[in-house]
Amino acid sequence: MNVKARAKINLSLDVLGARPDGYHEILTVMQPLELHDKMKVEALATGAIEVICSHPDVPSGPGNLVYRAADLLRSECGCSMGASIYIKKNIPVAAGLAGGSADAAAALKALNKLWGLGLEERQLLQAGERIGADVPFCLAGKTALAGGKGEILTPLPSFPGLGVILVKPSFGVSTARVYSLYDSSPAGPGPNTGAMVSALEKRDFEAVAALLNNVLERVTAALHPEINEIKKALIEAGAAGAIMSGSGPTVFGLCRSPGEALSVAARLELPGCRVIVNETV
Ligand code: ATP
Repeated sequence: MNVKARAKINLSLDVLGARPDGYHEILTVMQPLELHDKMKVEALATGAIEVICSHPDVPSGPGNLVYRAADLLRSECGCSMGASIYIKKNIPVAAGLAGGSADAAAALKALNKLWGLGLEERQLLQAGERIGADVPFCLAGKTALAGGKGEILTPLPSFPGLGVILVKPSFGVSTARVYSLYDSSPAGPGPNTGAMVSALEKRDFEAVAALLNNVLERVTAALHPEINEIKKALIEAGAAGAIMSGSGPTVFGLCRSPGEALSVAARLELPGCRVIVNETV
């Protein structure tokens, strides 16, 4: 079975506080992108789980989030089947685009079918939550307001067809490190999540672009000032708005259409960065 694992961006991201379980309480508007990893998932009667990933920085085998997802699903359901999973990585890694979570979610869905487990969406969401905070969103696969540690999802109207220019600097960042620095840095102004939600409900592109906001951006930008330079370059090149996604370091610019995004990307001069022109779905 061939499946797609889609990347996400955060149109707004607020951190409400640290939780006793080590996670943070967040409030974020998440939007899936057309950009995806391609996965080939097959059931194996031998009981072995084999995960191979095309990217040199991502482990194959038990270190891969997909392996953990398959193993957890199997033991939860008392299933003795195995799986062979190949991941062709297109989503930049350790980039704030939930690539690993997307792969894990796609594997859960595919294995539920291939192993004939018959789990309902609610049960898959519960399994996904145990693998990672972004996995439930990736399983649902639709624009949503995410609360809790990211697993409490309220569907929002999607805004498909917007142009997105993703700019990934050459370095990655650790999500855990960004959150820990966030905790020790003074609080700053947060996003207006309610206004972002109503901008999406009204399909008001100008408002969505103006309301892009991520409280983690200043933390990652303090470590890597390139973040601010990329934002500035995107706006100067004609993006309607620009913000860092998740814990970074990918910064994205938003445009009314993919065509406009292509023109903006053509004007960018950001040596060392990977630039991907994409769109919302
Ligand atoms: P998030 O936005 O959810 O914080 P991210 O986009 O910042 O995630 P990922 O690309 O998911 O980060 O990768 C984070 C780490 O997880 C990497 O160091 C990577 O080696 C590891 N990893 C394990 N499995 C995968 C996978 N299938 N795809 C990507 N990374 C994986």
